[in-house]
Amino acid sequence: MILINKQPILSSLGPTLLSTGGSNITLPPEIVAYIWAFLTLKDLVKFGCTSRSNYRLVRRALRNTVHRLIAPFTPTAGVDPFLAMLKSERAVISGSMALFPLMFCNFSGTISNEVCWSPRDMDIYEPKTERGGSGVLKYLLEIEGYEEHNIRERSLREQYDGRQGIRQVKNLKRDGIHVDIVTSASSSAISPIFYFHSTQVFNWISPEGLFSAYPKLTCIRRGLLNPMAFDRNHFVPALPGGDVRQSLRKYYFRGFDIRRNPSCWADDKHACTFSAECPIVSRNVVDGGCMFVPFFKDFTGYFEEGSTIWPYDSPYILFWYLGGPLCDGRRRVCESYVSLRADAEDERFTL
Ligand SMILES: [Zn+2]
Repeated sequence: MILINKQPILSSLGPTLLSTGGSNITLPPEIVAYIWAFLTLKDLVKFGCTSRSNYRLVRRALRNTVHRLIAPFTPTAGVDPFLAMLKSERAVISGSMALFPLMFCNFSGTISNEVCWSPRDMDIYEPKTERGGSGVLKYLLEIEGYEEHNIRERSLREQYDGRQGIRQVKNLKRDGIHVDIVTSASSSAISPIFYFHSTQVFNWISPEGLFSAYPKLTCIRRGLLNPMAFDRNHFVPALPGGDVRQSLRKYYFRGFDIRRNPSCWADDKHACTFSAECPIVSRNVVDGGCMFVPFFKDFTGYFEEGSTIWPYDSPYILFWYLGGPLCDGRRRVCESYVSLRADAEDERFTL
């Protein structure tokens, strides 16, 4: 067995073809696994743009990584029926499990980077449930044999100071494995994600693919604090609560540099009020600053004019505005929001 960093390379990888324009190079799997383990998904999407076969390779590696993460949580019925259930419930997976494939996407589970972690819990986000109750909860209790365990509210405390955007959280447990089901206060499962403490966790895994709202920052291990997570009074910005601070420390130890504003980084050159990384810019989930890598459909990763692919199944487009203090240090604070609108030009707020 081939080992890299004391971790086995799956033999199923096989010799890998790397297509380089006119010619193909065949590399041994251990070399490819080693190189890929240093690359983020953003790098791999760029590599995937070089040829159709490379693109398929990236997509397959992403599917493989996501399946490997979900498998321990679905030992009875498996990953595919679980993803089919998420699709029918319009639910997504977020938290550490959605961040992991952005940083460590490969075929084999090999991690060459020194700063590595493994997600231990799964956080599922579902839309506001109607009278029939939560289909996600029903599936995990009846098919996968989980039990409700209402003492622990880890993810809620870690992600927020308040319950913004959330109707309820259910904690499930099975053989020491924890799953949290977070029910949104709106018809959109993804809206609570935009109240998270910082931008490196603005990601989700849907049954169709992986979405990241700040791929450029996240893939260089940078994050912006979200004023919505802790500023109770916009004119007297409060410190984050203890649980949010603990969570920020967790990401610090995972190698993330999290600041209030891009201008806090010495090498910052962001175009203020224009760049997707500027907090004083209204963003939406289909703008060019987002990245979506589908598991099956052909798509290059970034939204452009006329893109027909959607990162989340909803009649509404989610908009958000981090707001907070201005980037140039002036003592003005812009009010944050998260809203759902029927189309990208719609100015009405519906949330
Ligand atoms: Zn700015």
